Amino acid sequence: MNRQSSASNLANHINAVYELRRAYARLSADKPVRLAKTTSNLFRFRSRDDAARLDVSAFTSVISIDTEARVAEVGGMTTYEDLVAATLRHGLMPPVVPQLRTITLGGAVTGLGIESSSFRNGLPHESVEEMEILTGSGQVVVARRDNEHRDLFYGFPNSYGTLGYALRLRIQLEPVRPYVHLRHLRFTDAAAAMAALEQICADRTHDGETVDFVDGVVFARNELYLTLGTFTDRAPWTSDYTGTDIYYRSIPRYAGPGPGDYLTTHDYLWRWDTDWFWCSRAFGLQHPVVRRLWPRSLKRSDVYRKLVALDRRTDASRLLDYYRGRPPKEPVIQDIEVEVGRAAEFLDFFHTEIGMSPVWLCPLRLREDTADDTEPVWPLYPLKPRRLYVNFGFWGLVPIRPGGGRTYHNRLIEKEVTRLGGHKSLYSDAFYDEDEFWELYNGEIYRKLKAAYDPDGRLLDLYTKCVGGG
Ligand SMILES: Cc1cc2nc3c(=O)[nH]c(=O)nc-3n(C[C@H](O)[C@H](O)[C@H](O)COP(=O)(O)OP(=O)(O)OC[C@H]3O[C@@H](n4cnc5c(N)ncnc54)[C@H](O)[C@@H]3O)c2cc1C
Repeated sequence: MNRQSSASNLANHINAVYELRRAYARLSADKPVRLAKTTSNLFRFRSRDDAARLDVSAFTSVISIDTEARVAEVGGMTTYEDLVAATLRHGLMPPVVPQLRTITLGGAVTGLGIESSSFRNGLPHESVEEMEILTGSGQVVVARRDNEHRDLFYGFPNSYGTLGYALRLRIQLEPVRPYVHLRHLRFTDAAAAMAALEQICADRTHDGETVDFVDGVVFARNELYLTLGTFTDRAPWTSDYTGTDIYYRSIPRYAGPGPGDYLTTHDYLWRWDTDWFWCSRAFGLQHPVVRRLWPRSLKRSDVYRKLVALDRRTDASRLLDYYRGRPPKEPVIQDIEVEVGRAAEFLDFFHTEIGMSPVWLCPLRLREDTADDTEPVWPLYPLKPRRLYVNFGFWGLVPIRPGGGRTYHNRLIEKEVTRLGGHKSLYSDAFYDEDEFWELYNGEIYRKLKAAYDPDGRLLDLYTKCVGGG
């Protein structure tokens, strides 16, 4: 990206901000505001939608990349797929790249994100230096750690677009190498796996090789894998999981004392997107014949999400189950975090009470610190600094228990996560009652931010949006 195109991109951006402010002012004040976007990775489906739509299509590209300073200026609705394509050309990547291609930078910052570099780089919002935000009150402000909008900067993560919309973000980048070497370590019990995870994340090395990435998969109570990734300049071969082979199935195959596996850095970053982790099996895509017929270009998480949205709108699979005499099922689609010391306990609960597999796991430690480690850095998602957490992601359907109700398993998980001192992401269904919710997500600070940046409540309130079906 040369200097001239960066300058013209910036001019276009400034013009688009001006137009957006005018468009926002024209929106009907008695309807909730929503972004008009062609993609979403939220897993809350609304039954009715009478919102006023804000066209943000002018904020979907990279404005500039400074390869010397290793920073990029990026439109708030730019997908990570486009962002990574632009940065990899310069041998750089964002420090944390969420696994799904169409997650946007603004979405990952306001709705949180995580990936296998999170044990050393924290969460995506921690690499942000500056955000330009259209606030609920219609002002455009620039929020940084060191200016008068500092509270908004720190309160933006986990606000889900209820304080304002990020239009431009300045983020740091880190250098990459061409390939990633993968080693899959097998464990037969969760306590041993979590002890190893803690050690590896502290050492950032294993068996004499640096560790740049860590995540893992739990296939069963006695079958867990940690996957360690290391940047390399050379690879004896590279695997391809966008065709007939399936990444998650390669994990047990390549585990053990052998040479491991190799991917290009590009393919490593998108390894989970092709099969939406393992969720593509719901569409028959893991059957060899279907897989061969399904075009490579449509093996993508955004395609599957659109299919799920259609299914939710038409109720097709529920009706099919009913006519086939199968028991009704409860969708259990959640990501949660607990401290590493409680992680084996959570898994034990999960196997006993929920019984779904596989489960994705990913360690994370905040990059940013506070003087007093009981004070959260990012108040609306109060992880403690310096602690290692383990994120567990599980996405599937569980048969409804007789007398259990349609939210039984989700509620059980919420209660257990709270009991273990953990947190739950809000991209999917949540069932907390209001007092409990504000206790967990720092209602006191949220209310102050809402009063300062959206005093007339043009944007929904966080509880209404995430729990109340807004
Ligand atoms: C099955 C599944 C697995 C997932 N796994 C992961 C994972 O492993 N790692 C990970 O990082 N994330 C994961 N996610 C969650 C995902 O990161 C969040 O849902 C994220 O918020 C989606 O961002 P999006 O860009 O698609 O935004 P959208 O879905 O369009 O919007 C999400 C919310 O953010 C708001 N928003 C969007 N853009 C902006 C903006 N520019 N400024 C302010 N608010 C905005 C919207 O109003 C909305 O409330 C997963 C989600 C699902 C469904």
